[in-house]
Amino acid sequence: MNDMSKDYWHARAAELKPEGRAFIEGRYVPALSGKTFAAVNPANGRVLAQIAACDSVDVDVAVRSARKAFDSGAWSRMAPAERKRILLAFAESILAHREELALLESLNVGKPITNALTGDIVSSAGCIQWYAEAIDKLYGEVAPTPDNFTAMVLREPIGVVAAVVPWNYPLSMASWKLGPALAAGNSVILKPAEQSPLTAIRIAQLAADAGVPPGVLNVLPGYGGTAGRALGLHGDVDAVGFTGSSEVGKLFMQYSGQSNMKRVGLECGGKSPHIVLADCDDLDGAARAVAMGIFSNAGQVCNAGSRLLVEAPIRDALLERIVAVGRELVPGDPLDPTTRLGAIVSQSQMDRVLSYIDIGRNEGARLVLGGQRVNQDSGGFFVEPTVFDSAHNAMRIARDEIFGPVLAAITVADVDEALAVANDTIYGLAAGVWTRDIRKAQRAAKAIRAGVVWINCFDRGNMSAPFGGFKQSGFGRDKSMHAFDKYMDWKAVWIAS
Ligand code: NAD
Repeated sequence: MNDMSKDYWHARAAELKPEGRAFIEGRYVPALSGKTFAAVNPANGRVLAQIAACDSVDVDVAVRSARKAFDSGAWSRMAPAERKRILLAFAESILAHREELALLESLNVGKPITNALTGDIVSSAGCIQWYAEAIDKLYGEVAPTPDNFTAMVLREPIGVVAAVVPWNYPLSMASWKLGPALAAGNSVILKPAEQSPLTAIRIAQLAADAGVPPGVLNVLPGYGGTAGRALGLHGDVDAVGFTGSSEVGKLFMQYSGQSNMKRVGLECGGKSPHIVLADCDDLDGAARAVAMGIFSNAGQVCNAGSRLLVEAPIRDALLERIVAVGRELVPGDPLDPTTRLGAIVSQSQMDRVLSYIDIGRNEGARLVLGGQRVNQDSGGFFVEPTVFDSAHNAMRIARDEIFGPVLAAITVADVDEALAVANDTIYGLAAGVWTRDIRKAQRAAKAIRAGVVWINCFDRGNMSAPFGGFKQSGFGRDKSMHAFDKYMDWKAVWIAS
């Protein structure tokens, strides 16, 4: 890392020629319409590449290719240990291309290069590796039956899977789908978000080079309303693994009902409560976690702790510390390795974040940090870390998912009020609780309706524990062995003797 200065990354960026075509049947192809759209660098507003604007005709071709590959058995019936070998090679290749992929991710999303290099890319490779290693340890069952029968309960790949992913962690979100779906033997069509398709397009070739057969992994960039919708409605797609907003998640349930009842797994939005109780004995640690829980990745994180619920006696002391951490996070050039806060993904997302800051002001919350667009001269889309105090849970800044670096601090009287407010949301993705009282911690962990609860920490995880939501944060789980449920079916085979 030491010799990788800002100049080094800018020099590499200047040489980069990102691929923008779709990847179907093992090769790069333009959209059949010939249409493209621009991939924009949110740190300076400049165009990085032209991207194939795939639509329903390209979806038809990709689904046919995926189905043919699935039916051929070249991947779906390959011995699991052999699939493992190929996927491990794919993971190794992601690591070997770490710098290039980190650069693509940083340029395309505006995230700090250091985060992309040491976080996104490494964890994406780790995810593919984890599922590769799991797949030859996944057993079926033999059911208890009368003596004159044997009943085998087999796990089978579901078929053709569409993976539709968002822009905030493009490669990580893609790998959370690709890992289990490919390891299980499915054919996959990955549709990256229109804002950030570059790493998804690039890794398609790496997978093919590692030995993933043609048609097994197709990458189809395009707009949600065209390519995404066509995948959701396609009669020959067996399952959709979706990560994105709750609004679009609901559309995928409709698409399924309107077409072939394809299985849908939804990882959607959140408005996660981060509770700090008065008995917390590490206010500095809690303040750092609260700040990083909302400011990292410029707040564009599904499980961002966007609502701080703090007990009255420690409110001022905690807020002072959070503001101090926030002041240190100056948005800057994502290609500078010292930058810790990057850009917002697009002009329209930045406008949305700024409009919520206005809403917060108008609702009567007290702005105690930030609130402005900064670095405008760069041509990029940067917003300061922003903290509102004196918010209450009925305000829109406390109810809507802003998806930016904006914290709404709500003062609560006690743990009962904290838990009631925590659950007063349509979402249920994650929550954090800081207390040294084991009984309160235990009670909160059980009472909060969310897929992940962190006690005296925030945003921790690895591949071995599931991730996903309650309520309108979706259903089904990414990560861990539970993710296989989304991409595999059970089959009971009865053999009479
Ligand atoms: P989005 O819902 O706008 O888009 C997600 C994907 O769906 C993109 O690929 C997009 O092209 C596609 N899409 C959009 N409209 C569509 C339509 N009408 N039909 C079919 N497909 C369509 O979400 P986003 O703005 O890219 O990402 C932000 C959202 O993702 C936030 O709500 C965030 O919370 C959520 N998210 C959730 C998780 C999680 O694990 N729960 C992780 C990351 C992001």
